[in-house]
Amino acid sequence: MVSPKAEIIASGTELLLGEVADVNTSFIASQLASLGIDLYHGNIVGDNFERFTQVLRQAWQRADIIITSGGLGPTQGDITREVIARFLGETLTIDPQLREELEGFFRRRGMEMPLNNLKQATIIPSATPLRNSFGTAPGWWVEKENHTIIVLPGPPRELQAMWHDAVLPRLRAMRCAVILSRTLKTWGLAEARVDELAAPFLKSANPTLALYARPDGIHMRITAKAATEAEARRMVQERERDIRTILGRYIWGADEDTLERTVQNLLQARNLTIATAEDFTAGLLVRSFAASHFFRGGLVVPAEDAPSRKTAAMMAEKAREEFRADIGLAICGNPASRGTENACIAISDGRRTMDSTTGYPGDRELIARRTLNHALVWLKEVLEQKNT
Ligand code: ATP
Ligand code: MG
Repeated sequence: MVSPKAEIIASGTELLLGEVADVNTSFIASQLASLGIDLYHGNIVGDNFERFTQVLRQAWQRADIIITSGGLGPTQGDITREVIARFLGETLTIDPQLREELEGFFRRRGMEMPLNNLKQATIIPSATPLRNSFGTAPGWWVEKENHTIIVLPGPPRELQAMWHDAVLPRLRAMRCAVILSRTLKTWGLAEARVDELAAPFLKSANPTLALYARPDGIHMRITAKAATEAEARRMVQERERDIRTILGRYIWGADEDTLERTVQNLLQARNLTIATAEDFTAGLLVRSFAASHFFRGGLVVPAEDAPSRKTAAMMAEKAREEFRADIGLAICGNPASRGTENACIAISDGRRTMDSTTGYPGDRELIARRTLNHALVWLKEVLEQKNT
C-alpha cells in the first residue's frame, strides 16, 4: 500500500513578520513522522484570501492530507473557513449544535457572546467539527474527492489538544506504516571517516542512515519504515547491531543522551564524587557537573601561556584534594598556540593521575567545547573500567 502524502499550511501574517515562530508545523511534522505519513511540503501563508487559496490549490494537487493551522478566530482577519468553503465550492452555514456550544462557553464565563463569534459556529457539508477543549474555535475534519483537510486552530495549546483528542485517532485509522528512528552519537572520528566506515549502510533505502556533525560529535540516525511498530523496531535494532560492530568503540550514547548526563550517571552508579579544575574553558567544566549531587566543587584559574601535562596533572590532584572528592578532572590549554596540541587533560583518582594532550581546531569557543567533550569521553571510559 502506498502511504498517504501530507502537506501543512500554517496561516498567520504574524508568522511571516517573524513575530511568532511557527511551532505548529514542527509539532505536526513530528507527529506525522511517527504515524508513517509522508510529509513533503510545509507552507506559511499570511491572512490573505488569494494567496491562501493559491497555496491550498497547490497542496490539493500534490497531497492527500492537508493540514491547516490558524485563522479560525472570530475576527475579520481569520479567513480559513471562508477560503476552504470557497475553494471546495461549498456554502458556510451556522450549525445549531456548534452555536449552542459556543454560547454555552460564553455563558459559563458570565459573558454574552459577541456576534462576531457566530462565524466560529459555521461549517460546510463536507466537514465534521472537531471539539476544542481549550478555546472557542472548533476545528474541521473535511473529506472530499479522496482528500482529507484537517483544519486546526492557531494557538499551539489548542492545536495540540485537538490533535491528541480528535485527529490522532482518525489518522491512526488511516495509517499504513510506522517510522522509527534512533540516533547513535560518536566522538573521536571525523565525519569523513564515519562516512567511510558506515558506507555500506548509507546506501540502504530502508532503514536509512544519515550523518550529522554536531558539537558533541558525529551523530548517526537510523530510520526504519515498516507496516508495524514491532517490525520497524526490529529493523532499527538490527541495523544498530551492524553499526556497533564497526563503530562501537566510538559510540558514547544514543537519542536523548548527553555526555554530561552519561558521565553523571556513571558517577552516581559507582558512588564516586568529582571535583574539577580548568583554565581556558572558563567554567565549562563546572557547568557540566553543576547539576550533579556527586560534584564537590570546581576551580577556575587564569590560563598559562604554555600549558603542560604536568600542569594539568597538578590541577587535577589539587581539585581532588581541595574538595575531598574521589576524582579530580582538569583541563588547561592555550587556544591561541599555533602548535597542533593546544590543550591538556588530566584525571586523578587518588591512586594514579593520567594525563594527555589534545589539539582540536576552531576558534576559542569551539576548542573549549571540543576539549571538554574529549575530557568527558575519556572520563566516561575511565569510570566504565571501575567496578560498581
Ligand atoms: P484565535 O481564535 O486565537 O484567533 P486562530 O485559530 O484564529 O485563533 P490565529 O489567529 O491564526 O489562530 O493565531 C492565534 C495565535 O496563535 C497567534 O497570535 C499566535 O500566537 C498563535 N499561533 C498561530 N499560528 C501559530 C503557529 N503556526 N505557531 C505558533 N503559534 C501560532
Ligand atoms: Mg485569529
